[in-house]
Amino acid sequence: IEAYGVLEADGLVFARQGAGYFVNNFASASNFANHGIATPERSSTLDPAQEVVIAKKWGESFLDQYMTSLQAQQEPDMIDFTSGFPRPSGLEDLAKIARRAMTQVGDVLFSYDFPQGQFTLRKQVAQMLAWKLGLEVSADDLIITNGSKQALSLALQYHLRAGDWAIVESPTYHGAIALLENLGVRIIGIPMCKDGMNLELLEKYLHSHRPKLIYTISTLHNPTGITTSQAHRRELLSLAEKYHCHILEDNAYEGLNFAPSPAPIKALDRSDLVTYVGTFSKTLMPGLRVGYMLATGKHYQALVEQKLLHDLHVSTVAQAIASEYLASGHYRRHLNHLRTINHQRHDAMLQAMECNFPDSVRWTVPQGGLFIWVQLPDRTPMAAIRQAAAEQKVLIGCGKPFFPDGQGYPALRLNFSQSLENIDRGIALLGDLLKQFLLR
Ligand code: PMP
Repeated sequence: IEAYGVLEADGLVFARQGAGYFVNNFASASNFANHGIATPERSSTLDPAQEVVIAKKWGESFLDQYMTSLQAQQEPDMIDFTSGFPRPSGLEDLAKIARRAMTQVGDVLFSYDFPQGQFTLRKQVAQMLAWKLGLEVSADDLIITNGSKQALSLALQYHLRAGDWAIVESPTYHGAIALLENLGVRIIGIPMCKDGMNLELLEKYLHSHRPKLIYTISTLHNPTGITTSQAHRRELLSLAEKYHCHILEDNAYEGLNFAPSPAPIKALDRSDLVTYVGTFSKTLMPGLRVGYMLATGKHYQALVEQKLLHDLHVSTVAQAIASEYLASGHYRRHLNHLRTINHQRHDAMLQAMECNFPDSVRWTVPQGGLFIWVQLPDRTPMAAIRQAAAEQKVLIGCGKPFFPDGQGYPALRLNFSQSLENIDRGIALLGDLLKQFLLR
């Protein structure tokens, strides 16, 4: 039973009461039939006609977006579809775990710690990456960071200078766009397709602009939810090798997959071309601020030095808590639970969208993560819809910040980790608004 528990926690099998355990085959669309949802025919392919964008800074600052969204989330009774974190659960466990962590960490708290992070935690993360993702990692290749955001920041600063070109998927994580803009890096946005970024266009721009770095969210991409296919990953790496371009692989949503995902691009990397980044923010809690970075070869020491320069090290308390979650087996059980409830909520949101959204609206069907990416018809008045939704206490995030130039097609990113009641109520309300605004 314990062995099945482990397989279930890893998403490889699922239990059906009274019948036993069954192997998961999430790769196929039939998964949706299993969960009582027809495969949505309206699911989005993303916009294949979308152009490559060479970004110009487009105005609204990252701070403005961040503060506005944080303030709105704190309003009472708000249904918040914007945020990028799991809903809190198990705070009692947190108290117990924190107490145990504090006793174990002992005297280290009263001095400064290593910039690369505590050995115990690095070893646990290395083991986790090995069993979950097949990454051959040593604790000596890992750096513990203040969330994965700091890992991204350190890696981008290390590999890029103002005026360099970098490639991102379009759309992509707006926090990474802001970091690149802040460094004065010139950004090329390659459209995201259903298997990953458009590789033909990638090669064209690798050839013409000789970028120094490709930033990719290979699994459960933010915001589209797409997981780059295995074949695509291989090809992406061989293109990067051909053009001597570094890859920054951001796997922030790892662990929230309903199905096994392909091995990270880092697992295929034989020439220290890939820096891999992960976090406990999306699975445990963003407030802990514990992320990690896997960097091999000559890059490691240079990045540890950067980390030391920036803030010496991650809070010893936060590291000890993350470590205790892993050591106690609680993390594994927690992930299993989280995936189960997220899957129900994901299915519920898709079903509600199917029932309530007008026919002209398309969306992706992710195999995990936190978001459904909704593509709306051209000329949809996004700001007016967002405003009208907020007046009715529903917070929605528009797609604009996820495009490197703030353009792109009209879109919404909806977080499905809500209570089922909020999903039903919020999506029904949003459906009414979309009908009102689109049928005008
Ligand atoms: N990468 C991606 C793709 C994200 O979506 C986020 C947060 N939304 C981060 C990195 C940063 O997360 P954190 O610093 O909390 O680990």
